[in-house]
Amino acid sequence: MTATLIDGKAISDTIKQEVKSALETLVPQAGRPPGLAVVLVGDDPASASYVRGKRKTCAALGITSIAHDLDASTDRDTVLGLVRSLNDDDAVDAILVQSPLPPHLDEHEVVNLISPDKDVDGFHPVNVGKLLIGEPTFVSCTPAGVQELLARSGVETRGAHVVIVGRSTIVGKPLAALLMQKADGADATVTVCHSRTRHLAEIARTADILVAAIGRARFVTADMVRPGAVVIDVGVNRVEDASAKRGYRLVGDVDFDAVVEVASKITPVPGGVGPMTIAMLMRNTLTAYRRRCGL
Ligand code: NDP
Repeated sequence: MTATLIDGKAISDTIKQEVKSALETLVPQAGRPPGLAVVLVGDDPASASYVRGKRKTCAALGITSIAHDLDASTDRDTVLGLVRSLNDDDAVDAILVQSPLPPHLDEHEVVNLISPDKDVDGFHPVNVGKLLIGEPTFVSCTPAGVQELLARSGVETRGAHVVIVGRSTIVGKPLAALLMQKADGADATVTVCHSRTRHLAEIARTADILVAAIGRARFVTADMVRPGAVVIDVGVNRVEDASAKRGYRLVGDVDFDAVVEVASKITPVPGGVGPMTIAMLMRNTLTAYRRRCGL
C-alpha cells in the first residue's frame, strides 16, 4: 500500500481564502480591519522567519499586522509594558508573542499577561482551561491545524484510537484535550505517549491515527505503524544535507519513505502540519475580531 498524501499546503490555502472572503464582508461592517500584534524579541533566525511568514499572510488576507521587534536585551518591564498597552489598544484584536523568548524573560509571565480575549495562540491558562472543559476558546494553532487536516481529509476521529507521541504544552497535551472532546471532529479515544512510556512501539501499532510530535528526526518507523493507519507528522527537524543549498533540509518525526508504504494517509514534511499552523492563527484572529466587533 502507498499512502495518500494529506496536502496541508492546499488545505491551508483553502482556509486562508475562507478567512479572506469572510473579511471582505466583515470589514465594511466593522469599519476597520482586524489587527494582529506580533511581538518578536531578539534575532533568532527561525523565529524571525516564522514571524515574517505570519506578517506576509496577514497582508495577503487583509489583516493589519502590527510589528513589535524588540532587541534581545529588552528588559522584563518593557516587554510586560508593551503587552499591557496591546491589551488596552482597541485596534489590536489579537496578540502573539513569538516563542522562544530570550532566557532572561519568563515566557509564562508574559503569556499570562496577554488578555485571554486576544490570546490567538491559545496559550493563556484561561484558554487552556476552557479547552479542557469544552468551552469555546482559542485552541492553539498546531493542534487546531491537526484536527482541521483530519476533518478536511475525511478522516473519521469519532471512536478512533488516536495515539499522540509527545506531551508538550503546545502540541501533545492540547491535541489530546481537543480530540477527546465530545464533539464533531473529535470523540476519539486518545492515548498520549512520551519519553517514559513503556512499549511505545506496541502502543503506536494500536493507533488508527498516529500523531508524532516528538522533535526527533524519523523517530516513527514503519514497524510502529499499523497497516492502513493515518499518520500525522508534526515534527520539524533539521538534518545535514550537503546537497541542499543551506546545508540542511527539514524532515519530520516520521520515517516518511518507509511509513508511506504502510499508512493509508500521511502528512509530508514540509507541506503538512506546518502551513496549517499559520492558517489557524489567521482563523483565530478572525474569531477574535468577530467577537470584539460583535459580528
Ligand atoms: P517538545 O520538545 O516540547 O516535546 C517533545 C515531546 O516528545 C515530549 O513530550 C517528550 O517526552 C517526547 N519525546 C522526546 N523523546 C522521546 C522518545 N524518545 N520517546 C518518546 N517520546 C519522546 O516538542 P514540541 O511539542 O514543541 O514539538 C515537537 C515537534 O513538533 C518538534 O519537531 C517541533 O519542531 C515540531 N513543531 C511543529 C510545529 C508546526 O507548526 N509544524 C509547531 C510546534 C512544534 P517527555 O515529555 O517525556 O520529555
